[in-house]
Amino acid sequence: MPIYEYGCEKCGHQTEMLRPMAGADEPVACESCGQPMRRLQSVFSAAGGASLPITGPSSSPPGPGDCGPGCGCMMP
Ligand SMILES: [Zn+2]
Repeated sequence: MPIYEYGCEKCGHQTEMLRPMAGADEPVACESCGQPMRRLQSVFSAAGGASLPITGPSSSPPGPGDCGPGCGCMMP
């Protein structure tokens, strides 16, 4: 289920809501002033936090066979 971000044009309050795609355009009342909020954008896969692995010096280097066929790792 995608996360949608809503912003209040009245007071500037912003919030994120987990909603089904079918209900994305349904009005959302501002938690602060009660005015209808405008949908800003959809943020996908934000519920799981950082899903992409961080590649850097800390990550372990690929071992033999990890690169797939055609890679020189498997060669003697
Ligand atoms: Zn508001």
